[in-house]
Amino acid sequence: MSSATGPSETSLDELRALQLGKLRAGLTHVLATNAFWRARLHSVGGWDDFERLPLTSKSELLADQAAHPPFGTNLTFPVDRYVRLHQTSGSSGDQPLRWLDTEESWDWWVRIWADHVYRAAGVSAEDRVFFAFSFGPFIGFWSAFGGAERLGAMCISGGAMTSEQRVRNMLDLGATVLLCTPTYALRLADVAREIGVNIAASSIRTTIHAGEPGASIPSTRDAIETAFSAVTFDHTGMTELGPTGHSCSARDGVHLVESEFIFEVAADGELIATNLGRWGMPLIRYRTGDRVVVSRDPCSCGSPFLKVVGGIQGRVDDMFTVRGVNLYPSQVEDIVRRYPEVAEFVIEHRRVRRMDEVVLLLESALASFATERLEADLRQALGVRLECRVVAPGTLPRSELKARRIVRITE
Ligand SMILES: [Zn+2]
Repeated sequence: MSSATGPSETSLDELRALQLGKLRAGLTHVLATNAFWRARLHSVGGWDDFERLPLTSKSELLADQAAHPPFGTNLTFPVDRYVRLHQTSGSSGDQPLRWLDTEESWDWWVRIWADHVYRAAGVSAEDRVFFAFSFGPFIGFWSAFGGAERLGAMCISGGAMTSEQRVRNMLDLGATVLLCTPTYALRLADVAREIGVNIAASSIRTTIHAGEPGASIPSTRDAIETAFSAVTFDHTGMTELGPTGHSCSARDGVHLVESEFIFEVAADGELIATNLGRWGMPLIRYRTGDRVVVSRDPCSCGSPFLKVVGGIQGRVDDMFTVRGVNLYPSQVEDIVRRYPEVAEFVIEHRRVRRMDEVVLLLESALASFATERLEADLRQALGVRLECRVVAPGTLPRSELKARRIVRITE
């Protein structure tokens, strides 16, 4: 009944009832013992109560950990119940945020990876999954690894390897699935080319990416798929929240895992999320900082879950303005990635005497790369002129976690 028309009223009601049931059961324990939430929340009977709960921001979490080091007060259980510690990269200039998981919370993480993220990408026990990660304290490496292990796939760590070693390892071991950031996938493809390896002829058939919106940006996705001769999927998640979503065969956005979270969208488009299975250190009505447009239109993949149309547009903080036009780095990336000769790029946003100046800095392996055609394409797509400047190879920062696409300078 529901497959042709999307989720029926009944299945939506069932979903809402499931969410409310999980929330009420979880909050009962949290409100009894968790000092952070006791100071902020009241018990929830129905959706009206939920909608009256305050929103929570990352700065509150950071302030709480600074005031109560090292873990803060968002702890539902005694510290010895927790079995894993991870932390954010601090790449946005913040202090790293520490996050603890109990065995149950960790099980929740890897189950969502196995049952939702990998399943949507068609990954199974027969696959050999290569993780091109350093395996530092960032949670994404470990949860992706644990989820593939849960599936019964062969899990191959690419930690402590150069890019060349990773390329050779994937080939030697017959890896079929690659996980890394979109930027790093393109870098691996460049390295393969440099060392004379035809990565498109390898057994990699699926790639899954997170950390940047690239796998939902058509030109970036096309570049990765062409380089690896593979099908590319997007995954969204946050250290402090959990694995929130994944793209599907429809290739036009990211489904949000509504059976494990409650999602809301603020008036300005910011995604607000509540997790429903990480009760050791939960988050209620958390401001993700991600700007989204969502749709409940039926999806050809059959998923009943809300879809972030076109993937996450960008971080709320990453928006920049050129002559009154609001833009996100992802819009620029979609144009830039149509130029395979561009290896890296950064949007430099300068505020000079209260005037905004935006310059697109590009690295190209081609010494003679001329920017005129790219500038014309950008102007056509964005409706404003964006100055491009070519910089020497190796000038722009590279990151395994997520590329910072916008650099802000105030003079
Ligand atoms: Zn779908």
